[in-house]
This record gives sequence, C-alpha cells and structure tokens, in this order.
Amino acid sequence: MKIPFNKPFIIGNELQYIQDAVVSGKISGDGIFTKRCQALLEEKYGFLKVLLTTSCTDALEMAAILCDIKPGDEVIIPSYTFVSTANAFVLRGAKIVFVDSCEDNPNVDPQKIEAAITQNTKVIVPVHYAGVACDMESIMSLAHKHNLYVVEDAAQAIDSYFTFSDGSKKALGSIGHFGAFSFHETKNIIAGEGGILTINNPSFIERAEIIREKGTNRSAFFRNEIDKYGWVDIGSSFLPSELISAFLLAQLENIEKIQRKRKEIWERYYSGLKDLEREGCFLLPKLPNYATNNAHMFYILCQSLSERGELIEHLKTNGIHSVFHYLSLHKSPFFENKHERNELTMADQYSDILIRLPLFYELKMEEIDKIIRCLKDFYS
Ligand SMILES: *Cc1c(COP(=O)(O)O)cnc(C)c1O
Repeated sequence: MKIPFNKPFIIGNELQYIQDAVVSGKISGDGIFTKRCQALLEEKYGFLKVLLTTSCTDALEMAAILCDIKPGDEVIIPSYTFVSTANAFVLRGAKIVFVDSCEDNPNVDPQKIEAAITQNTKVIVPVHYAGVACDMESIMSLAHKHNLYVVEDAAQAIDSYFTFSDGSKKALGSIGHFGAFSFHETKNIIAGEGGILTINNPSFIERAEIIREKGTNRSAFFRNEIDKYGWVDIGSSFLPSELISAFLLAQLENIEKIQRKRKEIWERYYSGLKDLEREGCFLLPKLPNYATNNAHMFYILCQSLSERGELIEHLKTNGIHSVFHYLSLHKSPFFENKHERNELTMADQYSDILIRLPLFYELKMEEIDKIIRCLKDFYS
C-alpha cells in the first residue's frame, strides 16, 4: 500500500451542506454559509472581522491593496516562503526585501527584519511556517516603532497561538493589522481552494468589503445601508461561492476533532524519531516557548542536500511519498535578475535540507510506524 503525502478528506456534513446550498437557491457568495463560517472563526479565535476569500493568495492581495502599496514601497518578507506571500505585493508595484530565517527554525529572524528597515519600508509580512508562531512581540514592536503595517501570512497557522511576555495569548492572524489563512486541500482545514482575510483594525473593514466585491459597495447595499450600489474603489472577485463555504463550514464544525487527530500523528512521529535525533541522524522541529503546535506539518532537517535526496528516494522505493519544500525566493528566476543578490544562508539551508513527511487526517497509526521504520532502516 502506497502512502501519499496528502489526502483530502470529509469529516461531517460537507456534502449535506452543499446540497442544502443548492436547494436553497443561492450558490453565489456571501450567503448564509459564508456568514456562518465567518462568525464561527471570529467567535472562536477573537478575530475582529473575518472575510472569506477564494484563497490565501487572494487574502494577501486584498491586504496589499488595503495597505495602499504604491510603486517604490518596500515590503519585508522571508525568503523561505511560498510565492504568493511576495506576489501579492509585487502586483501592487512594491519592492520586495527578502530577509533570512532563524537558526533554529524556518521562521523569519526579527533582528534581520530590523536591519532591513529603511525610509521606504511600509509592511512586514511574517510567515508562521508549519503553523509555528514567529516572534510576534518583537515584530509588532518594530512595526510600532517604525510605523509599519504587519500582514501575517497565517496560511498554515489555523488554531495556533502566540504567548506574549505578560502571559497573554492571542491566536495567530489576530495580532498584525491583517492575517491571511488558507483552506487549500493541503492545509489542516480544507475546502479545496479557499481562505480568509482577518482584519484586526475596524478602520479597514468597510474598504475590505468593497475590494472583495469588485470595487462596489454591494455588501452595504444588501444590508440596506445604502439605496443603490456602484463602483467606488478598485477591487476584484475575491468572494468564494456558497458551495465552498458550505464544505468549509462542515470542516470548521469539526476543528477540535481534526486538530486532536493531527496532533496525535505529530506526537507519534516525534516520539518515534527522537532516538534517531539523539544519535545525530537529523534534527526534529523545535518549538519556541512562545508558540503552540497546530500539527500542520511534520518535517525533519537532514545533514545535506544529497542525503535528503537519497532519503526521499529510499522512502519512495518503499511506497512513501515525502517532499521537500520552498526554494529560497531571493534565488528564484523571477527575482534574481532584477535585484542585487544578498546572502541568506539559513533560507538556503532550509531549502536544501528540510523534508516533509506525510501528514493528513486519515493517516493511520500503522502507516506512521511504517514510515518511522523506514527512516530507521535508512540510517542504520
Ligand atoms: C498555502 C500557502 C499559501 C497559499 O495559499 P492558497 O490558499 O493556496 O492561496 C500562502 N502562503 C503560505 C505560507 C502557504 O503555505
């Protein structure tokens, strides 16, 4: 039996809710399922306002518009991230300033952020890699000091938290001015494609609704706040269909169950691989003490690029699909010929040595044990 890297799943009323939406006669966006998903997330995680979007990419593009990015503005982004984190701001004409990751985890290093801030800096975009919080206390204080926006790329970070030094705890995506989450089929909570923009400052809510509705004030019109709607701003079609939000609602209703299972899988990997780490074969993920684990991803750090390649092959020969992750964006073909290259050694290091093991809701405990045995076999 082959073990895939990821497998989409249904867990509750997904299909029933889709049918309900069809029968109700409304399957375009912003109907009852969209509103129920938004309300559930606001209530559970303390986001001031949640707007469902068709993807995390779209939520990031909305955030870039809301930050009023103009050509020449600089946006600080980790190099070790997905292309959408950068593209959203490139589309508005920003100059991307890539910074390096921390030594002990792939998240952005706040000291490197500080060194990259100039007169033209407008936004910092921390990416909570593997659902593990960036050092948000340091990042927010830098933002405050230099009057910058913070857009959290929380694509992988649903149901994860940051603890401040005064002991208070906040959900990721509720700390910066904006947060962007993904419900792509590879994430913890899925809708095929889907996402949310979280807005944590009330002054942006009205404009965000307009941008999501193609630059019209249609949302206010349907709430009877105005008597006709028209074109009032730039915008695009960022609103998902009710078929998507119907599926998503069923997933959100089961979030505790999904998270419990994923954490069980994560813990089984961790305890099963601890011995190999002690023997110096590879490194396991390290969680800073201000962060929680939402079990989005289980990765290990190999000794070298060539060893990682051999390990992926070995797993593949045994029917196990493992994958590496990002390639540093500052070295990507799109970026490299446009900008002077700086050395970002940690980002390059994670590009070379990080490998992700299968982690999905229906992964069986026997399958995890098989993967662990296969790793032991490789290193023996
Ligand atoms: C998945 C992911 C995205 C993109 O999410 P989509 O919903 O597919 O647009 C962006 N950033 C990070 C860090 C991601 O992991």
